[in-house]
Amino acid sequence: MRVAVIGLGTMGGPMARHLIDAGHEVTVHNRTREREEPLAALGAARAGSPAEAAQGADAVLTCVSDTPDLEHVLLGPGGVCDGLPSGGLVVDCSTVSPSATADIAARLRERGIGMVDAPVSGGSEGAEKGTLTIFCGGSEEDFARAGDILNAIGSRITHLGPSGAGQTAKAVNQVMIAGTYASVGEGIALAQAAGLPIPELLEALSGGAAASWVLTNRAGNMVEDTYPLGFKLALHRKDLGIALDEAAHAGLPMAVTEAVAAQEDELMTAGHGDEDVSAVARVPKRTTGQPA
Ligand code: NAP
Repeated sequence: MRVAVIGLGTMGGPMARHLIDAGHEVTVHNRTREREEPLAALGAARAGSPAEAAQGADAVLTCVSDTPDLEHVLLGPGGVCDGLPSGGLVVDCSTVSPSATADIAARLRERGIGMVDAPVSGGSEGAEKGTLTIFCGGSEEDFARAGDILNAIGSRITHLGPSGAGQTAKAVNQVMIAGTYASVGEGIALAQAAGLPIPELLEALSGGAAASWVLTNRAGNMVEDTYPLGFKLALHRKDLGIALDEAAHAGLPMAVTEAVAAQEDELMTAGHGDEDVSAVARVPKRTTGQPA
């Protein structure tokens, strides 16, 4: 397939690499153009805009930060819609608003372009290994057409309903990991304050009911109190905003999510938004930069 990839950040860069490895003809574009260079070295063509990248492509994979960014690269001036022919397909791996996704998909459909929302879980590690979990929304036909792309970047791929359903599922995922990050952070702070032997404790915890992806992959950050990326805390806060909007529509109270969102707001104010989201452990460890 001829695939254009727009957005070569922590997640999109490795996705483009896996598509090249799978034998697709890949064209890349990134707003900060230097990020295209490692992919060009692997054989990707470079394009000066999303429209140019999309010209002649069968499909476009997008992986950008937030809803307005997605709208900009798809529908803005020089966007994908200015280049992708009718009959093309957009596979969006960004985490964005479910309702905006349904709206964008309808606007693309008017131009004969299909869309699958395909937000991912599994972190930078999952992107590097090509083992992401992918939550999909869209028509059966578009989901089937996206198969070769999704299989190149993920290993658990689930179609959950029409356009926006994948993003709603991702909001559920982000709600669940919010509490996990915060409570693993609190547990680590308590263990260190109590003077427990940390390596032995982590080994023991990993065999019991407290086992989790966060414990396995991010407790080390929390023990050291250093938070390399990963997944930016500011992006997780963006995702909690999406989830809280969905909950408000459904009339649901979300006390844990609201508490974690407030902690993340505090951390962003203190300048920690570009750290990995495991930096929520700064709150119980009192290393936020704010007066304790
Ligand atoms: P990132 O490293 O910050 O990369 C963001 C990408 O979006 C960059 O390529 C950036 O371009 C591009 N971008 C942002 N705004 C743009 C705009 N207005 N116009 C054009 N390009 C724009 O973020 P990431 O970690 O890869 O995350 C990407 C998406 O995946 C987000 O929606 C995030 O929530 C989701 N996600 C991330 C993870 C994770 O562990 N990191 C896991 C699951 C899902 P520049 O390089 O020019 O800034």
